[in-house]
Amino acid sequence: MVHSNARIAIIGGGMGGLTAAIALRKIAGVQATVFEQAGQLGEVGAGVTVAPNAARVLDRLGVLERIRSVGAVPDGHGVYQDAQGRMVTDAAWEDTAKEYQNIGMYRPDLIDALAAEVDPAAVRLGHRLTAVEETDDGVRVEFENGGAEVFDAVIGADGIHSVVRAAVGQHPEPVYSGYIVYRGVVDASRLPEDWPMISQVWMGDSRHFMCYPLQQRRLFNFVAGIPSDRPLHGPWSGPAEVAELAAEFAGDGWDPRLQHFIAQVDKTFWWGLFDHDPLTNWSRGPITLLGDAAHTMLPHQGQGVNQAIEDSMALATFLAAADEVSDIPEAFRRYTAVRMQRTAILQNGSRRAGAMFDAQYEFADLAKRDADIRVGRDFRRGAVFDYDAQKVAERALARFRKERVA
Ligand SMILES: Cc1cc2nc3c(=O)[nH]c(=O)nc-3n(C[C@H](O)[C@H](O)[C@H](O)COP(=O)(O)OP(=O)(O)OC[C@H]3O[C@@H](n4cnc5c(N)ncnc54)[C@H](O)[C@@H]3O)c2cc1C
Repeated sequence: MVHSNARIAIIGGGMGGLTAAIALRKIAGVQATVFEQAGQLGEVGAGVTVAPNAARVLDRLGVLERIRSVGAVPDGHGVYQDAQGRMVTDAAWEDTAKEYQNIGMYRPDLIDALAAEVDPAAVRLGHRLTAVEETDDGVRVEFENGGAEVFDAVIGADGIHSVVRAAVGQHPEPVYSGYIVYRGVVDASRLPEDWPMISQVWMGDSRHFMCYPLQQRRLFNFVAGIPSDRPLHGPWSGPAEVAELAAEFAGDGWDPRLQHFIAQVDKTFWWGLFDHDPLTNWSRGPITLLGDAAHTMLPHQGQGVNQAIEDSMALATFLAAADEVSDIPEAFRRYTAVRMQRTAILQNGSRRAGAMFDAQYEFADLAKRDADIRVGRDFRRGAVFDYDAQKVAERALARFRKERVA
């Protein structure tokens, strides 16, 4: 196991960076230091689903019970329906073994649950990274507040606008999807008593609406995808009027149940949906990437955070097998080799899922769209939810060792 005194910095204290800190400590025995630009750890007041593939990792890290206790496990399969609320297909909500389910999480609660497992002394708030550079002594990081330090290795978990990414030679352009989402939460007590405690998606002409329960079913999250060129002319997010959102789903074409849901919304904000093409490399020497810094994806498969959680487990597994600090670059290369293809498939798949929900391109033919969504239901369970990031990394390690002996 890599020496427990190895000095590793994680840049970014979001959901990815915090999970990486937990995995490094519990799996690789390394206490990393997390540098976060904000004055406190936090997240936007909206939801996120922890999917079975990530729940499996969080269980092994000893965090799942805490997460389940503040999240919401739905009653059963999710549903995809047309604008009028007619069922297109149901959707897997658990893995094949029925061991792990999707869990709806209020983002601030997920951050709190992860932060509770990280030593506060290992988190440096108010540290905005401005430069990272490999030197003869290690990796030097510099911060806007004037501080600078040298580490044996640096992990960039600093999101879509990653500064660390340039240090591994990657400069992807953000790609705008042509869509914004309106996001927010609704108090569940304002919905009809028989409102289903599951995930529901309504798919209409070039737009869709999704909702699912959070926070022990006290809240419902919503995400409404609308075509817009707004982020091309100004900021990428901001407050929005509820009336704007309601107007997008007004009229006879839309399910009155959905309109009733929207009528309960008090507050909403909009967010431009961007991703980038898959990177060609994530690591250079003792510097690597994780989460959105490595693979920003559109939210249509609900996998951005879940992939950051898988990354964390894979990275910790490879680091646990490194004997010396000088072995870290090799551990990072192996991690990159194992993770890049999986996340590239999901980045591309998320674009495709968005096109399906909004009946774009070849999916304008609704019969074809609905058939493809039914196929995707099985793909998600097998290829996405059943994936065991730790086992895959361990198998790859065994293969790398065999190759070295040969
Ligand atoms: C509408 C929507 C819905 C989504 N739904 C889901 C879902 O259901 N399931 C799912 O898995 N994913 C979902 N996602 C994606 C998910 O939100 C992201 O993939 C996830 O937040 C990535 O986590 P991260 O830690 O890698 O990056 P971030 O969450 O972006 O965190 C990066 C952290 O680094 C800090 N930072 C940035 N730059 C610096 C710097 N220079 N120095 C120091 N600190 C820095 C930031 O302040 C932040 O705390 C959704 C996304 C959207 C837009």
